Amino acid sequence: MNIASIIVDVPAKQTDKPFDYLIPEQYKEIIVPGVRVNVPFGPRNIQGFVTGLKTESNFKKLKSIAEPLDLNPVLNPELLELGDWLTEHSLCYKISAFQAMLPAALKAKYEKKLILAPKAAFNDLPEEVRHLFAGGKEAKWEEAVEQGLIDTLKKVAARGLVEVVYQVKDRVRRKKLRHISPIVDQSVMKSQLDQLAANAKGQRVLIEYFLQHPEPVELRALLSSLSISQASVKGLVKKGILREQDLEVYRDPYEAREFQRKEALQLTSAQKDAIEPVLSSINEDRHEVFLLYGVTGSGKTEIYLQSIQKVLSKGQEAIVLVPEISLTPQMVKRFKERFGDLVAVMHSGLSAGEKYDEWRKIQRREVKVVVGARSAIFAPFENLGIIIIDEEHETSYKQEENPRYHARDVAIQRGLTHRCPVVLGSATPSLESFARAQKGVYTLLSLPERMNQQPLPKVELVDMREELRQGNRSMFSSLLFEKLQDRLEKGEQTVLFLNKRGHSSFVMCRDCGYVINCPNCDITLTYHRHKEQMKCHYCGFEDIVPAVCPECASEHIRYFGTGTQKVEEELNKLLPEARVIRMDVDTTGRKGSHEKLLNAFQEGAADILLGTQMIAKGLDFPNITLVGVLSADTMLHLPDFRSSEKTFQLLTQVSGRAGRHELPGEVVIQTYTPEHYSIELAGSQDFDRFYQQEMVARKVHKYPPFYYLSLITVSHEELMKAVSITEKITRFIASRLSQEAVILGPVASPIPRINNRYRYQCLIKYKKEPELKSALKAILDHYQQESASSTLQISMDLNPYILM
Ligand code: ADP
Ligand code: ZN
Ligand code: ZN
Repeated sequence: MNIASIIVDVPAKQTDKPFDYLIPEQYKEIIVPGVRVNVPFGPRNIQGFVTGLKTESNFKKLKSIAEPLDLNPVLNPELLELGDWLTEHSLCYKISAFQAMLPAALKAKYEKKLILAPKAAFNDLPEEVRHLFAGGKEAKWEEAVEQGLIDTLKKVAARGLVEVVYQVKDRVRRKKLRHISPIVDQSVMKSQLDQLAANAKGQRVLIEYFLQHPEPVELRALLSSLSISQASVKGLVKKGILREQDLEVYRDPYEAREFQRKEALQLTSAQKDAIEPVLSSINEDRHEVFLLYGVTGSGKTEIYLQSIQKVLSKGQEAIVLVPEISLTPQMVKRFKERFGDLVAVMHSGLSAGEKYDEWRKIQRREVKVVVGARSAIFAPFENLGIIIIDEEHETSYKQEENPRYHARDVAIQRGLTHRCPVVLGSATPSLESFARAQKGVYTLLSLPERMNQQPLPKVELVDMREELRQGNRSMFSSLLFEKLQDRLEKGEQTVLFLNKRGHSSFVMCRDCGYVINCPNCDITLTYHRHKEQMKCHYCGFEDIVPAVCPECASEHIRYFGTGTQKVEEELNKLLPEARVIRMDVDTTGRKGSHEKLLNAFQEGAADILLGTQMIAKGLDFPNITLVGVLSADTMLHLPDFRSSEKTFQLLTQVSGRAGRHELPGEVVIQTYTPEHYSIELAGSQDFDRFYQQEMVARKVHKYPPFYYLSLITVSHEELMKAVSITEKITRFIASRLSQEAVILGPVASPIPRINNRYRYQCLIKYKKEPELKSALKAILDHYQQESASSTLQISMDLNPYILM
């Protein structure tokens, strides 16, 4: 086994395969699959992942590995295999797949150091490596390599005494605090104790403490718990009894918070029925996918918690995925209260260093539960007992860059490998998942009622066309305005929701609500301001904006959109006494500002919370009794076949913000199309009927879950090239697929030019096309040369969620 197969860090077709390298004798214990290495490649050294070992190679003149970058593998055998699956599944390069599974700190430029493990003492180290750590400092990796000590250190590391850490240059700094520990053994300390002057009380206390607890302790904690002065410590350091040392502490973002442990709740009978199949799947080590369908507040989280409890009692581990924006402190708290320090949290609000710390806790087996956003699905657990995806309908679970994976697919793949259940939870499941549950591919578990028997809030739809007819040109209907005033008088709070997606992008008649659609696709035409044109992004149809409404001949036809800032101005004008907090991308840019604004609102610092998508989730404040949706339609008319589904989900979710506690809640939804089923049914909170209707529409127009989609996007600096290549690709695809497949394109992408590159696309709808993947790969291969020279880019998205 002196040859290693290595995937090198060059994302290109020619290098997307293992290269063979000789393993130098001194590294033969360290080089195992999953370890990263430095290897000579062309004129320089680059990074690579060891994927396998062998004794023979078909190549004669093999180069040698320059050096290992890890003492222990960063990818375990399961994750290496998952990398293969990901490559196959999303048509990405192996190197991109591997890198996607690791925290960013391991991808960037880094410095490598050896450190003493937090629990290890300097004296535990074998003599021959001690000098590297002289003075309790970190050891330099290069020094260890030069002195041929790496293999020895590997053994020391195996005993848990040292670790390799990566420090991204100038970016990730491991957080360090001054620690104190004894450097002499017990007998020396005892004899010191006898020699101490009578007034050296502090030093006495210290030595007595360290006789009991010889491990390093953080200085501030030591001073306060023993009530002694720093001078006593300094005294003993001078005498050579104690040592000061800066040691790493984890940057725990929740460190300052106290979590009171909470016990499991007595389950209701509905919850018992729902959890029972999950528990048997855990008990029997059987993979099964569950769809837990229950309105907000129906007790889903309690089911997650108790399932995890079961998994932990079997000595296994759990992954919980939560959408980025719902990963609020409130959410994290519930897991920490139940499982304490066994929980690691991973989300994008953490710095690269904090993420790396959380990842290392998993690697070191210090935690058993990970709560995190999408990428937490790659948590390097080796004994998974359950994977939970909350709010499974959220599109943020799909990664929109290479590798273009959906966390749900990865979860199911890992669930198969680990023979464990996957639980998908939602109040408004995705059509795809609900259809699979209907077909019995997933097991449906329902929680039909809210825990506290609170009725769902009363929802009223306001027809904004009618408002206009009655001369109200403001963005507030008279009903919403009345209720706003009423809440102000009572001192109760209001949430105003403005859907910002779809801003100014469609054309609508303000008199009759008519929205201009594509005649071929049943998709809203997008308004293009610079040419005063409307355009279909699926088939390319174009038209000029009509001067009068084709439906009612009114002249009030115009493109649509209002921003939060404008709403705030209007509120200030109409209700000058109201205190407003605005939450949108502009006011929440800085780290922690999101939480600050929410806290301020919770503490009653404002009467009205005005915001976009980001306030749709996680708000659970007792004083909110009114929710207003300013324009329910904006998202409905996005050029996306999921627009009805997204509208329904969002309105249902926003409505759920009102009346969660004692005070009853009311919801006012303003709309120009109250008759549209997704708005009408969101009003009555009727998911089942929405599902029926939407399935009919999807079937007629050949969209998921009846058909699969693949999107090919071609971009090029020259328009003609983009067009002609997309044409060729489309023809090639058509020749390889059956008659049943539908191919839309070539057509300009909804965003036809980005960074001076023209974009064209081709959308494929299909049911079963065994040839498709190989055809797509053939295309990538064929254009590889051209793509490498960077004038051409071809992206392939199997199962796209963004069609722009
Ligand atoms: P969901 O996740 O569906 O929104 P939760 O699990 O958060 O629902 O439950 C809603 C509320 O009901 C929470 O405050 C929770 O503590 C409480 N709850 C859940 N299950 C029980 C139970 N079995 N007994 C008492 N209270 C419960
Ligand atoms: Zn009209
Ligand atoms: Zn069209």
